[in-house]
Amino acid sequence: MTASRAARERRAQGQAGELAKVSVEVGPDDGLVYKIRCRRCEGRPGVPWATYRKGAENDFLAAMDRWTIHLSQKHLDATADCLEFLDQAVARLHERNPRS
Ligand SMILES: [Zn+2]
Repeated sequence: MTASRAARERRAQGQAGELAKVSVEVGPDDGLVYKIRCRRCEGRPGVPWATYRKGAENDFLAAMDRWTIHLSQKHLDATADCLEFLDQAVARLHERNPRS
């Protein structure tokens, strides 16, 4: 049995830290979609900075990786469990998208 949506949401929220607002939603294909919004930043005017990734285990990492990098670049005073894995997050993102 897989963890419930609420349990996944709590786990991701715990890793992402206080600046994040994590939600796990069901996408059009019935897969889980992780959304991590920043409580401080706007991506576009009036719209919170956010990253959205489908919820397969790798994609969950992708959302958390992008969030981890956002935290490290924009919120130098932030503390969150995910920052422990910043080096891996940067390496994974680079692997997926060599130009970034
Ligand atoms: Zn931010």
